[in-house]
Amino acid sequence: MKYSALALLRGALSAHRNWVPAWRSPEPKPAYDVVIVGGGGHGLAAAYYLAKNHGVHNVALLERGWIGGGNTGRNTTIVRSNYLFPESARLYDFALKCYEGLSRELNFNIMLSQRGIVLLAHSRHDLDSMARWANAMRMNGIDAQILTREEVAARAPLLDMSPDARFPVLGGFTQRRAGTARHDAVAWGYARAADALGVDIIQNCEVTGFLTGAGGRVVGVETSRGRIRAERIGIAAAGHSSVLAKLAGFRLPVVSYALQAMVTEPLKPALDTVVTSPGTGAYVSQSDKGEIVIGASLDLFPSYAQRGSFAVLQGVIAATLALFPSFSRLRLLRQWAGIVDVVHDSSPIIGPTPIPGLYINCGWGTGGFKAIPAGGWTLAHVLATGRNHELAEPFQLERFITGRLIDEAAAAGIAH
Ligand SMILES: Cc1cc2nc3c(=O)[nH]c(=O)nc-3n(C[C@H](O)[C@H](O)[C@H](O)COP(=O)(O)OP(=O)(O)OC[C@H]3O[C@@H](n4cnc5c(N)ncnc54)[C@H](O)[C@@H]3O)c2cc1C
Repeated sequence: MKYSALALLRGALSAHRNWVPAWRSPEPKPAYDVVIVGGGGHGLAAAYYLAKNHGVHNVALLERGWIGGGNTGRNTTIVRSNYLFPESARLYDFALKCYEGLSRELNFNIMLSQRGIVLLAHSRHDLDSMARWANAMRMNGIDAQILTREEVAARAPLLDMSPDARFPVLGGFTQRRAGTARHDAVAWGYARAADALGVDIIQNCEVTGFLTGAGGRVVGVETSRGRIRAERIGIAAAGHSSVLAKLAGFRLPVVSYALQAMVTEPLKPALDTVVTSPGTGAYVSQSDKGEIVIGASLDLFPSYAQRGSFAVLQGVIAATLALFPSFSRLRLLRQWAGIVDVVHDSSPIIGPTPIPGLYINCGWGTGGFKAIPAGGWTLAHVLATGRNHELAEPFQLERFITGRLIDEAAAAGIAH
């Protein structure tokens, strides 16, 4: 069913009885050409691009819970491509460009809102490093603009700009094409489009082991719903990537941490941009529903508990209130955490694993929502062709052996 104004009218006039489910719930078949493990944005996008770009339709996507129930449905929805190194700039800007046309392509409103991101400089050192950062972006062909103190104040009038503020704002920079997108809608849009192209999306199906054949090649998976054979397998399981790698018999340089976020009660439009304060660790935006969305930093110990610790919560609220004192009157409605897959250089891993036939997409850590179209596109490419996509070439697992890291840790927006 194509969504349109006419479809909406038809639905309304028939008392909303004729809507069809956005995707099927098929029973798993015994064998597929490709199996993808993980029904977050990256897995769903990979399934969609496999069918759309490469004509590979006999695909199963296996999700142990519900699609989008991992980090894809738990993030602060910020999309941007303000990275420092050319390799990352290319990858993330490709994703942002895909996002710009995605609602139309998927026929599903992902609620992309390019309201811009403002990064705050609280010291002379911040001003210098942000000038370098913004200049690097422009050299990479990505929009960036240095902001004076007054320009920052005009963009976020509720910021405390008084000279005796706890964290004085001296200026900053902006990427205007950055903003937010509705996270669930990205997962649902890709799921619906992939399903329409023949992909089987199988929820409540946990992968518990891998089957190998001649030469150690992977030939299928054991799941909570039985054995499924496949010629090629892709893993896109974020914080559980190293668990799956262990099942397959190799190690990943990934450490899993809880990353938490929270929303306040909704209020009238008050913040028309995304504000990030790398110095304090706070990143804040206002959702379309009106809630103030606040992101925190990582818990500093590895964990698989989707909660997040109180000390980190307290720290980010203190920082947010120092920046926006008027938010102290708001009630916090919800807090949650996701388990993110952090690697040493804060850059992703996309490509083959040491096990023939098994490919991986992980390492997005605290910032992979913005990259979903690129992560899906490049994973689909390597699954379909056996060759790395040129965008993914610098992001191979072997960089942890060669030492050719792409260290975006300092440029990832927040010093996680
Ligand atoms: C609080 C928070 C804030 C964030 N803010 C931002 C932001 O503002 N901008 C941004 O770009 N990024 C942000 N991120 C990061 C972003 O959410 C992730 O990088 C991204 O969603 C990863 O997508 P994914 O598809 O790889 O993983 P997920 O969405 O986590 O999907 C992985 C899926 O794999 C499934 N799975 C795991 N093990 C198995 C198994 N054995 N069998 C079957 N399925 C399995 C899981 O259930 C899960 O659904 C944030 C993350 C968090 C937690």
